[in-house]
Amino acid sequence: MTTPQGRSAIVAGGGIGGLAAAIGLRRAGWTVTVLERQAVSREAGAGWSFAPNALRAADALGVGDDLRAISVPTRAGATLRTPHGRYLMRFREGRDTTLLANHRADLHRALLARLPGGWVRTGAEVTGVEQSAAGVTVAYRTPGGTRQATADVLVGADGIHSVVRRSVWPHSPAPVFQRILCWRGVTEPGSVWPVEGFQTWGRGARFGAHPVAGRRVFWFLTVRRPEPGLRYDDDVAEVRRRVGGWHQPIPALLAGTRPESVLCHDIFDLEPLPAYVEGRVAVLGDAAHAMTPFLAQGACQALEDAAVLAAELAGDIDVPTALARFDRSRRPRSQRVRQLARQDPAVSLSTSPVVYGLAAGLTRLAGGGVAARKAARLWTWTPPVIGQGDRCQ
Ligand SMILES: Cc1cc2nc3c(=O)[nH]c(=O)nc-3n(C[C@H](O)[C@H](O)[C@H](O)COP(=O)(O)OP(=O)(O)OC[C@H]3O[C@@H](n4cnc5c(N)ncnc54)[C@H](O)[C@@H]3O)c2cc1C
Repeated sequence: MTTPQGRSAIVAGGGIGGLAAAIGLRRAGWTVTVLERQAVSREAGAGWSFAPNALRAADALGVGDDLRAISVPTRAGATLRTPHGRYLMRFREGRDTTLLANHRADLHRALLARLPGGWVRTGAEVTGVEQSAAGVTVAYRTPGGTRQATADVLVGADGIHSVVRRSVWPHSPAPVFQRILCWRGVTEPGSVWPVEGFQTWGRGARFGAHPVAGRRVFWFLTVRRPEPGLRYDDDVAEVRRRVGGWHQPIPALLAGTRPESVLCHDIFDLEPLPAYVEGRVAVLGDAAHAMTPFLAQGACQALEDAAVLAAELAGDIDVPTALARFDRSRRPRSQRVRQLARQDPAVSLSTSPVVYGLAAGLTRLAGGGVAARKAARLWTWTPPVIGQGDRCQ
């Protein structure tokens, strides 16, 4: 895979982080091979929202308009209600920021469309990594047998259980269960519509919903769970039981969702890594800094990573030096966000009646101002300029 110009990369993982990295590297003049374990696009039953920092990263990568085209504005970031429907925070027109929400499968398709055919190999599972003077060699398994590929750079974008991370830092700690269980669903088109985004805060439980394209609504419920691994025969019935009596449109959203499409996951995050880079290998996205979903920043940070990586690797550069700069730029910010995302549920998912009562009361008194200032600090990020912009068509 090494090109005559010596500017080839392998990206392990074709999620949002891997595809964004490949798009950015292409923009910077690199040839990329993405190795994706899955045979088809995953997470069909889920959506997510993107904050302004992610949009800036997407613009730097040249895919901002693609993201806007498949997204729907949502007020979910600044609308908070109690289970009875009382507003703790109401979206303030002209003052609060709408986020952009979309269905994961739509975004996946939009990013894939930005890469030349043949750049993404599905059904290719990375199993090992070796660095040498010639570059970095990756072993991967396909239905047809085990293969090897060599490139100048390897980007580990293979998610929270990253094989690349474990190969490069074999002693890095395993993902940490955060005592949280999360259900996610998407309603059938038009079954409940229109819906403005909102979140509802109960004691030890947080429900959220936002519209996505196609007159569908993405919803989630996060709850406390002492141990990982417990599963339910009927997820929707369990969600309904936990939010029984909560305000509309929550019951309608559950009724409008096909039970078999509901996802249920334990929430883990990662302890800080000693570095995101080792020689010619870099990790990004969840492989580097998986975080709880409480700030809705995991994928936003992956987009920031991809933009910075591409900017550092653009032009006539020494690869290890450029990667070291990527590490210096990305680790402090993404670790700060990861840490905040770990701390947030201590209050926002507290099962204590005292903590819940106090925090909900203070939120109502403070209105949206405090939350907006906190969010603005989180979203303040200046994207880099990626060289050779004319290469991205
Ligand atoms: C409930 C929930 C809600 C969330 N909501 C939001 C939100 O609103 N906004 C937001 O910004 N973030 C959100 N996130 C976080 C976001 O989902 C992740 O941060 C993001 O998906 C990380 O992208 P990634 O590409 O780094 O990893 P992943 O999405 O995990 O992608 C990794 C890819 O690598 C592949 N892979 C794995 N191992 C291998 C291997 N050995 N070889 C080849 N391929 C491999 C996988 O199949 C996968 O395609 C949420 C997360 C959760 C759990």
